[in-house]
Amino acid sequence: MNQKIKILVVEDEKNIRSFITSVLSSQQYQVITAATGKEGLSQAASWCPDLILLDLGLPDMDGMELIQKIRGWSDLPIIVISARIQEDDKVKALDQGADDYITKPFGNSELLARIRTALRHSIRPQTDRPYRCKGLIIDFEKRLVTREGTEIHLTQNEFKIVSFLAKNCGKVILYDRLIEHIWGPYSENDNTILRVNMANIRRKIEPDPAEPVYIFTEIGVGYRMAEEE
Ligand code: CA
Repeated sequence: MNQKIKILVVEDEKNIRSFITSVLSSQQYQVITAATGKEGLSQAASWCPDLILLDLGLPDMDGMELIQKIRGWSDLPIIVISARIQEDDKVKALDQGADDYITKPFGNSELLARIRTALRHSIRPQTDRPYRCKGLIIDFEKRLVTREGTEIHLTQNEFKIVSFLAKNCGKVILYDRLIEHIWGPYSENDNTILRVNMANIRRKIEPDPAEPVYIFTEIGVGYRMAEEE
């Protein structure tokens, strides 16, 4: 059985729609497109896609509204494609439940990489096998972090931060979500303590903290941990 992965593209610009369609079709994805939010919503419900690529600026509806509606009944991965480069929109889209965003203009390799990441996260069962990337190993069960075989000592909170990012590697984790995960829902949303912890983590795990290779900052949005190798 060779069932194709189904991707719904909701985008009103014809050129971008056909660009995405040709890129995805060449990779054996099955593609269906919608030019309006209303059309997208009905196809999301009837066609049961495995992933949605969603433009935020639609003629009949704001993409944010579409995310909200879909999240009312489904957890399927949604990648926002947007010309809006404002950080507020990225945060808002992720906050509404989008899994990732990609900013126009983008190339086909970036698009395909984001899709693979989003699909992997939705399909992969939550396992506790270690995270591995560029010599860094995080063993969640043993609570052990090593780089090139040398043990790195992290505090409890530092380990919690790194683990959370590693288990969601490739995805942007919003500052607020990270703070809530580590310090609980009633913690003050103060980025300072998170920034201090991150500076310490980088000093310990990064070969050069000024040029991180494991944990990247998405300015004004959150952090993204490098994909596993
Ligand atoms: Ca548009």
